[in-house]
Amino acid sequence: MKACILRSPAPIETNPLEFSDVPKPEPQAGQVLVKVQACGICRTDLHVIEGELAQRKMPVIPGHQVVGVIESAGANATRYPTGTRVGIAWLHSTDGTCEYCKAGKENLCNNPTFTGYTVDGGYAEYALAQESFVYPIPEGFGDLKAAPLLCAGIIGFRSLRLSGIGRGGRLGLYGFGAAAHVAIQVARYWGAEVYACTRDERHQKLALELGAVWAGGTIADPPAKLDSAIIFAPAGEIVPAALKALKKGGTLALGGIHMSTIPPLDYNLLYQERVVRCVANNTRQDGHDFLRIAAQIPIHTEIEVFPLREANRALNALKNDAIRGAAVLKLD
Ligand SMILES: [Zn+2]
Ligand SMILES: [Zn+2]
Repeated sequence: MKACILRSPAPIETNPLEFSDVPKPEPQAGQVLVKVQACGICRTDLHVIEGELAQRKMPVIPGHQVVGVIESAGANATRYPTGTRVGIAWLHSTDGTCEYCKAGKENLCNNPTFTGYTVDGGYAEYALAQESFVYPIPEGFGDLKAAPLLCAGIIGFRSLRLSGIGRGGRLGLYGFGAAAHVAIQVARYWGAEVYACTRDERHQKLALELGAVWAGGTIADPPAKLDSAIIFAPAGEIVPAALKALKKGGTLALGGIHMSTIPPLDYNLLYQERVVRCVANNTRQDGHDFLRIAAQIPIHTEIEVFPLREANRALNALKNDAIRGAAVLKLD
């Protein structure tokens, strides 16, 4: 099969993904083989490719926002008939036995595997998944438009949950890429007012189109104090600015898997019971809950489509803030 393979981490400007032929994988017990139709591109892919995350499997096929159809199944994988359209997300498997799994916090599992990082992912014609970790895709979404729901959407949704934002609240979104452009639609559905802080003017424009009441620079002061804020940009220097924008008792959620160093914080930015917390992965429950609400709203994803062989170009565009919404790889 055709796939984009990373042999060793390198800056994306050097186009490190190699478009080549690799053996088509075979589903093992409990697994399904998915014929990939679309794979969304996530900033985490960039962190894997550029080596900001510790190396776990090399070579590796990145990609963890996979939409496709089940082509075959291994032993004991009988939950879905062949031909079912499913999504494969970042959380590839958990042990189900550690203290976190037992406590309903499988996102924090001690022995997880991750799609496109510790096991091969969806920048390929076929990908494997545990059948208990795939998500049926709601009918209203086309393959390409559904792909960004699987990480940008689900992680954005978990970030919203952990930010504590509720009806009528004021929410700040820092960085306005794939995750934020979905999260704003959920937040508005919940009746929240959204303030977008992002350095890129095109992203500010998209935020206003999607109903933000205000859009400005990353460290600009929003015109009203915020109940909650989420930082999606991987830049630690935004943390003090976002805390400064919060009301007393407000919560700042950090939505990324990697962030540059957070500068020293003046305790006054935290005092008055402000909370900073991060978001790590998601539970399957988050995923199913999000996809249900995404179909109800319904969420509209803005996408820029690239052929599989041009994954390097898509990732370069992502790094340069040149994607409006989400980048998605299309399989032939
Ligand atoms: Zn576990
Ligand atoms: Zn992701």
